[in-house]
Amino acid sequence: MTFYPSYWERSILLKTFDFIVLGAGIIGKQIAIKIKIKHPNARIAIVDRYPLPLGASTRNAGFACFGSITEILDDMRHSSLEEVFSLADKRRRGIQQLINEFGTEKIGFRPTGSYEIFDKANINDLDEALNQIDFINEELRYRTGLQGVFEIKNKLTLGMNCIDTVFFNSHEGMLNSGMLNETIASKAHNMDIIPFYGFDVKHIEETAKGYELSNDQGMKINCNQLIVANNAFASQLFPELNVVPARGQIIITKPIDMIPFDGIFHSDKGYIYFRTIDNRILIGGARNHFKQDEETYEFKGSDEIKNYLESYLRTIVIPNHSFEIDMHWSGIMAMGDKKLPIVERRNDHLLLCVRMSGMGVALGPILSDEITAMV
Ligand SMILES: Cc1cc2nc3c(=O)[nH]c(=O)nc-3n(C[C@H](O)[C@H](O)[C@H](O)COP(=O)(O)OP(=O)(O)OC[C@H]3O[C@@H](n4cnc5c(N)ncnc54)[C@H](O)[C@@H]3O)c2cc1C
Repeated sequence: MTFYPSYWERSILLKTFDFIVLGAGIIGKQIAIKIKIKHPNARIAIVDRYPLPLGASTRNAGFACFGSITEILDDMRHSSLEEVFSLADKRRRGIQQLINEFGTEKIGFRPTGSYEIFDKANINDLDEALNQIDFINEELRYRTGLQGVFEIKNKLTLGMNCIDTVFFNSHEGMLNSGMLNETIASKAHNMDIIPFYGFDVKHIEETAKGYELSNDQGMKINCNQLIVANNAFASQLFPELNVVPARGQIIITKPIDMIPFDGIFHSDKGYIYFRTIDNRILIGGARNHFKQDEETYEFKGSDEIKNYLESYLRTIVIPNHSFEIDMHWSGIMAMGDKKLPIVERRNDHLLLCVRMSGMGVALGPILSDEITAMV
């Protein structure tokens, strides 16, 4: 189909926008909301190619977390202390802002705390974590004001087939990703932000007064300020960006009687994560063992990762129960040469808020504040 505009479309519906936010995931929607609050009379559109956001926002594990101890130690090998701990602080503040802004009930937040567990395969990580716990706690106290974030506990209460020593962080918790998306969407849609869902942006062109976005049907929308918030897909439109897709796969069990634990759990430098939800266990990750295969935009998951996660679940997480796997899905995250988001103004008419590096649930509130401060 080719699009031939009517007079009404050209004169009103497709009239130049003050702001277009490209990408209607949780980041794009939070940006649009905050710009509308800052500029109430502005004409703002939010554009997405699908009716529901299809990337990472509706497909993650619903962790409200700011980094397990081995994830932080791993990050310290690749980034400066300043980068690592200011990111942890932004994640912590972001979670708090979600709770303050929307309320725990609207986003299904529960302050369960989190545990990090170890098995024989990552015993070296445990040794390093035990050696570094005081240093990490001190850095976190300095950056976040929180005392003694990581505590050493015994696994006995969890009933898992893991090493006795586990780390507990009482400041993390779980949320319901479906509720979070719906709550943010409902706020955006009540605010006179114009949705353009079903508009697959294929071309972006700079104009004298801003940017023009077009799809394959020839429909064009113009704006003065374009805010790109399509995360992993940013490099499809801006190939010069250092943004690489990273698929994250998840499986969930059918309901299980008497699960002996509750909360969110990390292992293997944050690459394994699992939690309870509705009497089920959801587990995801293992991307580090299949790194190249997972650098893909393909949503269909792989048997290799599904089997890996299922085996981890049966042997380590809940070894003495029988259960069935109910679902397997994946989401596409955005990584790059640094585990740091790209939040910047590119020119007078273009801003980027992409490459969430698998942390966008927690970072979204703070990064959307940062972008809004630039417009
Ligand atoms: C398995 C998994 C586990 C995760 N765990 C955590 C965690 O523990 N903690 C945490 O903080 N975060 C976590 N995340 C990451 C978090 O979900 C993301 O960082 C966040 O959702 C990114 O949101 P976004 O709005 O930037 O991008 P997305 O949700 O990916 O949205 C991008 C949108 O842009 C649209 N789009 C793309 N290209 C175009 C185009 N050309 N035209 C029109 N529309 C387009 C897409 O359709 C999509 O709706 C996890 C993610 C996954 C997948």
